[in-house]
Amino acid sequence: MPIAIHMDSSPRSVLHNTVDQLLLEVSRESTLDEGNSTLSDNLLSALHSVFQQSLLHALDLVDKNHVTRFVCPSGRELFQVKASTGSKVYTCLVPSSYCNCPSFVYSVVLKEEALWCKHLLAVRLCQALERVESREVCGEDIAEMLTTDRDTLALGY
Ligand SMILES: [Zn+2]
Repeated sequence: MPIAIHMDSSPRSVLHNTVDQLLLEVSRESTLDEGNSTLSDNLLSALHSVFQQSLLHALDLVDKNHVTRFVCPSGRELFQVKASTGSKVYTCLVPSSYCNCPSFVYSVVLKEEALWCKHLLAVRLCQALERVESREVCGEDIAEMLTTDRDTLALGY
C-alpha cells in the first residue's frame, strides 16, 4: 500500500513535513512489527527518495548501535554517533538538527543539498525505531561533549 503523506498548513517546508510523516511511519511500522526493525519496501523507497545514499549509511549506523543518547538531570540531552569506520565520534542536537561533522557544514549548511547528514538521520531513525541506548550523565559531561572535539565517546567507549 502506498504511503500517505499528510501535510499540515504550518509554515514549515513541504520537505520537513514529508520527512516527519515518514519518520512517523517508521515508528508505526516498528511498533506493529515487535522486536523486528524491518521496514517495508514502500517506506524504504520513500526515505531513499529524500535521503539518497545517506539512508544506507544511516541504517548501517543504526544496525551497528552507533547512536547513544546522553541526558543530564536537567533534561538537557545530546546524541553521539560513532563513525562507521575509524574512531571519530560526532555530536548531534535534536530537534535543532545540528551535527558537528564536516558533511553537515558542507552539504547541509553551505550547499543546502541535503536536509540532514547521515548522523542526524541515524539519530532520527533510532528514535523512531526506539533503538537508542540512553545514558544518564551530569551537566559537566554534557558541557565537555559540547566543547571537546573527540575521537572516542566520553563515557564507556
Ligand atoms: Zn553528521
